Amino acid sequence: MQVSLTFEEAVFGVEKEIEFSRDETCSRCSGKGAEPGTTPLRCTTCNGQGEVRQVRQTFLGQMVQTAPCPTCSGRGETIASPCTTCRGAGLERKKVKKKVQIPAGVDVGTQIRLNGEGAPGENGGPQGSLFLVLDVKPHKFFKRRDQDVILNLDINIAQAVLGAEVTIPTLEGEDKLKIPSGTQPGKVFHVRGKGVPHVRNKNQRGDEIVIVNVAVPTKLTKEQKELFEKLAESLGTTVKPQAKGFLDWLNETLGG
Ligand SMILES: [Zn+2]
Ligand SMILES: [Zn+2]
Repeated sequence: MQVSLTFEEAVFGVEKEIEFSRDETCSRCSGKGAEPGTTPLRCTTCNGQGEVRQVRQTFLGQMVQTAPCPTCSGRGETIASPCTTCRGAGLERKKVKKKVQIPAGVDVGTQIRLNGEGAPGENGGPQGSLFLVLDVKPHKFFKRRDQDVILNLDINIAQAVLGAEVTIPTLEGEDKLKIPSGTQPGKVFHVRGKGVPHVRNKNQRGDEIVIVNVAVPTKLTKEQKELFEKLAESLGTTVKPQAKGFLDWLNETLGG
C-alpha cells in the first residue's frame, strides 16, 4: 500500500498509523471452512488422498500422472455444512490498524517490508508480507537531491554588492548565512550537515545547498530610482564581453 508523508516526516522519520484491509483466518471456523460442530467428510473422489491418478495413453505407452483432486482441491475432505461467516472459504476480510515506524531519510519510492503482515498462506502456510511504498509531498522551499536539500534564495542587489548576513530557512528552523561582498548570481553555498540523514546511518547527513539569485528590482520608490540614477552615472555606460559564458557557469555549478 502507498503511504503519504510530508517532506519533514520523510527527513526526520515518523510513527504512522496505517489502516488497511486484509484476509485473515476466519475466526468462526479457524480457517477450516466448516461450520463449528460439524465434521468435514472424507472426499469420495480421491478417497481422502487429496490427489487423483490419471492414466493417459501416449505413443510411448501408458503414463500415470497424479494431480490435485478437483473435488476437494487437494484437502482430502469436503465440507458438508460450510461456515456461515466465510461460506467455506476459511478467510475473513478484516480492517487492520497498525503503528509503523518510518525511519529518517526515506524518499519517494522507498519500500518498507513488514514481514507477516500480508495475507495468510494457503492451507495454513505462513503469512505473507505487507509492502509500504512511500510517497513524499513537495516542500514549500526545499528540493531534495539524495541527502542534500536545495534552496533557491533571492537576495537583493545591495546585499550582493556589499555583502550581508541573511537568515535562511533550514529543515530545523532558521540559520544565518554570510553573503560575501561581490556575490554573483548563481553562487552556490553549502551549509554542512543541514541536509537529510542517511536512511541507514542517522549521523551521516547531507548539506543544505543554497543557490543565490540576485533579484533585480522591478518596482522602485522615487528615492530608490534617484539613487540608481546616481549609480548609473557613476558606473558609466561601457559594457564588457564575458570570458566565461552561461554554459561554463552551468557546468561548474552542476558538475561540482
Ligand atoms: Zn469460517
Ligand atoms: Zn478429493
